[in-house]
Amino acid sequence: MRHVLSLETPAQTSGACTITREHLVTRHLWDAYRQHLVVLMRQRSAKTEKIYRTKRRNLVRSLLSERPVCQRCNADRSHDVHEKKSRARGGSITDVENLVALCRPCHAWVTEHPKEAHEQGWLLWSWE
Ligand SMILES: [Zn+2]
Repeated sequence: MRHVLSLETPAQTSGACTITREHLVTRHLWDAYRQHLVVLMRQRSAKTEKIYRTKRRNLVRSLLSERPVCQRCNADRSHDVHEKKSRARGGSITDVENLVALCRPCHAWVTEHPKEAHEQGWLLWSWE
């Protein structure tokens, strides 16, 4: 970081930019560091994604067998696991408290009628 800051000084004072060996070394280190971060992030997200997929798949299977009837209409067979607070809103996709088993038509209704679904407790906003 000290290098990056000191590099700005010559260009600011003289208006010219001189590329020195130090610039190139700094640039090389920066590129290497950035590449290292990209690799780390990719590994972590792939690992997280795998855990998520395995855990979620098992959870969906057990939840649908525990709650075979749709929790909204109490008539049709449950088919989907719906998150009341979505992942995008900061909700957990593996917390049973946040999950409900719905039939296809009810799940579609919840998705297509967010205002009514929220009033009836099938959807939660991020701050709830
Ligand atoms: Zn239903």
